[in-house]
Amino acid sequence: MTLLAAEAEVHLADAERHVAHLCAHFEEHDFVVAAAPGRTRIAFDVGTGILESDRDRLTLRAEADDTTRLAAIKFMLAQHLQELPGAAEARLVWTGDGCADTTLPSLREVRVSRIRDLTPNLRRITFAGQDLGRYDAPDMHIHLLIPPAGQPPVWPVPGANGIPVWPEGPAAPALRTYTVRRVDAEAGEITLDFVLHAAPGPGAAFAARARLGDVVGILGPGGRGVAPAQWYLLAGDDTALPAIGRILERLAPDATGVAVVEVDDAADELALQHPAGLALRWLHRKGAPAGTTPQLVEAVRAIPIPQDRSVFAWAGTEFETFKALRAHWRKTCGLPRDRHLAVAYWRRGHSEDAEA
Ligand SMILES: Cc1cc2nc3c(=O)[nH]c(=O)nc-3n(C[C@H](O)[C@H](O)[C@H](O)COP(=O)(O)OP(=O)(O)OC[C@H]3O[C@@H](n4cnc5c(N)ncnc54)[C@H](O)[C@@H]3O)c2cc1C
Repeated sequence: MTLLAAEAEVHLADAERHVAHLCAHFEEHDFVVAAAPGRTRIAFDVGTGILESDRDRLTLRAEADDTTRLAAIKFMLAQHLQELPGAAEARLVWTGDGCADTTLPSLREVRVSRIRDLTPNLRRITFAGQDLGRYDAPDMHIHLLIPPAGQPPVWPVPGANGIPVWPEGPAAPALRTYTVRRVDAEAGEITLDFVLHAAPGPGAAFAARARLGDVVGILGPGGRGVAPAQWYLLAGDDTALPAIGRILERLAPDATGVAVVEVDDAADELALQHPAGLALRWLHRKGAPAGTTPQLVEAVRAIPIPQDRSVFAWAGTEFETFKALRAHWRKTCGLPRDRHLAVAYWRRGHSEDAEA
């Protein structure tokens, strides 16, 4: 395997202090940092970052076994360095492998190839494209780049500092997060399920107007799913249906537990494949706006967590529900961090742009 590498030299007052801040940041995100005087190695899951400091000079080095991973390390080092006080203005230019590329190695352009309504409020769209193997991964979601209606696609490009340059103006694509429901890399297909929600933003509006041949971009994948366990508790609203469906399909046949899904009414239920020992329960909003009813939180709070088996609790919901479920699992149930994952999938009254 060939190791790819890139390097950037940055002139900064007190480089050592910036290294210390970067190390603290990456350690907080559970990366292993091996610090030695003047030279620090960070073991990312996609490769290695090396920081060398000498008074007012900091050298960043990224090493990985493919250009996409290399770009991810360059991005992480540059992005976090530029967030540090005093470093935002520092000139940072990478040289080495992949630095002459004019397209983002993780970006794929795909076209709508099939559209099917699974329920009145959930539309399945399959996209065709090339080189989609990277999305057939344990990582759960992608970022979808959606050109404005009627505009030709314009994509972000690599920046010399490792941070992508986002297009500006009327053709700039919107960025939205969706779960990878299915990938068939051999056939060159990726499938996403879109909730057709009220007050649609660019994501739901794209799904509502999509026609065969429409072009979008995909970046990713990212985001972990559930850890192996004997008993699972899965909770979510319509937006988490794709994730819950995907998680259930991949569980061992002897897995046990409960999945609770809130949808509008019985017509929004899906026949999800799931282990026989795991109960699938549906809650109905019956016309109440999504994200306004307490029933999902109440249902989850009423489910006792077994003490005699390994467990994992997972939720993808509206922001307020996410906060309540995470607090319940952390504070009331005392579940350690590696035994639960609650994610805010959307926030009532806020677009995903506002969350960024
Ligand atoms: C990791 C992750 C995975 C996700 N996977 C999926 C998926 O597979 N399928 C899917 O459909 N969604 C999924 N979502 C949720 C999706 O990203 C959000 O719903 C997103 O806001 C939709 O973008 P939009 O452009 O339609 O609306 P935005 O422009 O973001 O928001 C516009 C308005 O719509 C409201 N809104 C957003 N979502 C909803 C909703 N579900 N119901 C009612 N009002 C809403 C907002 O509060 C806002 O007022 C996922 C989110 C995350 C973080």
